[in-house]
Amino acid sequence: MPARLDVDLDRLRRNIMTVRRTVMPAETLFVVKNDAYGHGVESVAATAAAAGVRWFGSFDVDTGTRVRAAVGSSARIFAWATTLDDGSVQRAADADLDVGVGDPGYLDRVIAADRALRVHLKIDTGLRRNGVRPEEWPEFIESAVRAQERGAIRVTGLWTHIAETSDADDDDARELFVDAVDSARAAGLSPEVRHMAASAASFARPGFRDDLVRIGAFAYGIRSADGPDIPGIVPIAALSAEVVEVASDRVTIDIGSLDGLPSTLAGCVEVGTEAGPRHLMTVGVTTSQVRVYPGAMVGDRVTLFGPGTRGENSATTLAEAIDTVGEELLVRLTPALERRYLGAVTPR
Ligand SMILES: *Cc1c(COP(=O)(O)O)cnc(C)c1O
Repeated sequence: MPARLDVDLDRLRRNIMTVRRTVMPAETLFVVKNDAYGHGVESVAATAAAAGVRWFGSFDVDTGTRVRAAVGSSARIFAWATTLDDGSVQRAADADLDVGVGDPGYLDRVIAADRALRVHLKIDTGLRRNGVRPEEWPEFIESAVRAQERGAIRVTGLWTHIAETSDADDDDARELFVDAVDSARAAGLSPEVRHMAASAASFARPGFRDDLVRIGAFAYGIRSADGPDIPGIVPIAALSAEVVEVASDRVTIDIGSLDGLPSTLAGCVEVGTEAGPRHLMTVGVTTSQVRVYPGAMVGDRVTLFGPGTRGENSATTLAEAIDTVGEELLVRLTPALERRYLGAVTPR
C-alpha cells in the first residue's frame, strides 16, 4: 500500500467551529478550491455543510458543480475564476453558482447570457491579480446597475482580495474597498454581502470581516507561514507511506504516485517513525529514504506530516523548511492518492 492521506473530519468540524465563533457575526465562506486543498472536495464540503456552513468558495465552475451535488440546493457557492467562456457561464447558471466578476468583458458575457446569474463585483485594491481598477469602477458599476434593472444579472456581492502580508498595504486596500462599496451603493446597488478577508486577516483584523470572510487554510488547520499556532485550529490531514525495504542505515518508503512531494525536502526535515523523528534522506519519484530506526520493519508506516504523529510535523512546518506555504504541499497531492476519512458524514 503506497502513500495515504488520512483526513480527520472531526478536526475539520472543530476548526470550522473555531473560525465561525471567531468571525461572528460575519459569516464564513469555506474555500474548497484545488480539491479542498488536496483533502477531497465531496467529503469535506458535506462535512462543512452538516456543521452549518452556508457559503462555499470553489474558484472554478467544475468544482462548484461538484460542491452543489455534495451539499444540495440551499448552499451558496461562489466561483471566482478570472473569466468564463460562454459555455461555463451557462454551467454556472445551471448549478446556481454566485460568480465573482472583476473584468468588464466577462461582465458583458454574464449580462449577455441573461440568466439572472448572481454576481459579486470585484475591485482591485492593489494586488493586481484580477479586479477592476478604481478608476474604471464607476463605469463598471453603471453597466451592472443597468443590467440588473432589466433583470439580466443580480448583484449579490462586492469583494476584493488582499495580500495579507503587510498591515499598511492591507489598510490602503481597505480604504479603496470601503470607497468602492460606498460608490456602488450610491449608484443604486444593494449587495447582500461584502467580503475581502481570507484566513489570516479574518483572525488578525476584526475590522476587515465585513459580512463574509473567505476561509481556506485555517479550516484545514494550515497556519500561515511563519505565523503563530492558533488555539482551536489543528491540522486535519496526515500523510503517511509504508516502509518497503529496511537497510542498515536507512529504510525505503513507497510514496507511490505521490509525485507532488518536493525533492527539496530531502535532508532538511525529519519525519515520524515508530521510534520517533528521523531524517528524510532522499525524495525520489516513487520512493524516498529515511534514516533507520530501532526495530524498523517492512510494513511500518512513516508519517510525513500530520496530527498526533511521532514526527509532529504539520504541512506548514514542512513547507517552511523549503520556503513555501503549507497549502502548496497539500494541493500538489495527486487525486489518485488514497484518502481515508475519519468521522465522515455521507455526501448526498
Ligand atoms: C484561496 C483564497 C482564499 C482563502 O485563503 P486562505 O488564506 O487559504 O484562507 C480566499 N479568497 C480567495 C480569492 C482565494 O483565492
